[in-house]
Amino acid sequence: MSKKETKYIFVTGGVTSSLGKGIVSASLGLLLKSRGFKVTIQKLDPYINIDPGTLNPYEHGECYVTEDGAETDLDLGHYERFLDSPTSQNNNVTTGKIYQTVIEKERKGDFLGKTVQVIPHITNEIKRRIKMLSKKDNDIIITEIGGTVGDIESLPYIESVRQLQWELGKTNSMVIHLTLLPYLASSGELKTKPSQHSVRQLMESGIQADVLVCRTEHTIPKEQKAKLAQFCNVGLGNVIECIDMDTIYEVPLYLQKQSFDEVVLKELNLPVGKEPNLKDWKTFLKKYKNPKRTVEIALVGKYVSLQDSYKSIAEAFIHAGSDMETEVKVRWIYSGELDEKNIEAELKGVDGILIAPGFGDRGIEGKISAARYARENKIPLLGICLGMQIMTIEFARNVLELSKANSVEFDTSTPDPVIALMEEQKNVVDKGGTMRLGAWKCSLKAGSKLAEIYGAKTIAERHRHRYEFNSDYKKDFEEKGLVPTGLNPETGLVETLELKDHPFYVGVQYHPEYKSTVATPHPLFKAFIAAAVKG
Ligand code: GLN
Repeated sequence: MSKKETKYIFVTGGVTSSLGKGIVSASLGLLLKSRGFKVTIQKLDPYINIDPGTLNPYEHGECYVTEDGAETDLDLGHYERFLDSPTSQNNNVTTGKIYQTVIEKERKGDFLGKTVQVIPHITNEIKRRIKMLSKKDNDIIITEIGGTVGDIESLPYIESVRQLQWELGKTNSMVIHLTLLPYLASSGELKTKPSQHSVRQLMESGIQADVLVCRTEHTIPKEQKAKLAQFCNVGLGNVIECIDMDTIYEVPLYLQKQSFDEVVLKELNLPVGKEPNLKDWKTFLKKYKNPKRTVEIALVGKYVSLQDSYKSIAEAFIHAGSDMETEVKVRWIYSGELDEKNIEAELKGVDGILIAPGFGDRGIEGKISAARYARENKIPLLGICLGMQIMTIEFARNVLELSKANSVEFDTSTPDPVIALMEEQKNVVDKGGTMRLGAWKCSLKAGSKLAEIYGAKTIAERHRHRYEFNSDYKKDFEEKGLVPTGLNPETGLVETLELKDHPFYVGVQYHPEYKSTVATPHPLFKAFIAAAVKG
């Protein structure tokens, strides 16, 4: 039997950015997966950075890391959290990557003397990257095109979609256009004109939107839907409303109620079949909305003014919290203004403290104060990546009495480099993609808290760091009670620390938050919440 044809869905955005293309794509992915299709979602980012690894989180939010060690856009986190299946480096493409590949080929002489141009060379590379995902036996590939229709940067992507649709044939691909219906409070009206214009702009590029998903603060009256359908060449049923919701996890259900998935399947000439099975998803939402108790966790980080910077952590709290029928309120604490004097007031009453990942020395001393406060007051603490390194520095200074102990990241001449640069990092000059990245194995000590939490001897978690616990100090730490309980089986690198005689004082060099999904809440977050509940 010949392999069935892969179907392609392109998601474009109009009117403004930040409309939630990632959530709409992830929601559609979930609905189609729940109907039995093998789905993957890809993000095309029109910026020239090779990846977001070198970007300040204030620019595009958190940098997400895949199993295979790619530093990617945070939307890939949504895809994994909704679909409960891992993405890879092929799921995020940037203009930087496209040009890099084309220019490398040019240097090798692969273009045989031809003039290298946006069309066809750049567009061919974009199409190759989109089609590459069909090799994984996917039934449906959803490709989200970053940016807004009309942006200069997006043009090669839009042109590639046009070419691909032509090559694939009408029934094998479709375009969903996400747009905004602004509400004019003075006249009490939702306006359709900006959407009409952005659909027209797409048409000028040779693309007809097949479905409109309209972000709106209010229900769209029937007449407005009809107007959109008429002016934008789509069926009335293909105008889908996406009203602002309390939680992103409600979006798939809201879209499903309007038969969004059915509309899409019909456009792609695929059998509609039975209603998707969303029982577990609904249970998750029900538990999330009806918690039996509340805990408050202080998230101590330096990017607190932008919650997108710690997106995966915030979502991991939601998944684990729902599972445990516990509302997790997050108190965002800016570590740059935290010190020994105000720590008590700032952290008063919290049930747990999470020390966030990060880079650079801003806010470090505030994080150290938070680690000390949690250790001395026996408040549950979870330190992630830099957070674990902070716990190490604090313990070295205040328990091992190495008052100048530090990480070489912050003080290259510290007499006690308890956190040191990893050996393989010593000759690294380039910043992009050069950290220890992706999933690495970790062996957990029998009888440790972490072995119990995971219920396993060996785990694999995702990493993103250059510095590590300095094993020269391992014995000293162990003797005083901060015990390395998880080691990389090959290198002996310390992956986890646990404090004895403390209800929960756990540091991990890896990022558990990247693996938490709605269907599979992370055991470490669950254990942390359980400790906070016990308080
Ligand atoms: N800056 C630290 C390192 O590179 C921690 C990184 C992180 O928290 N992701 O090792």
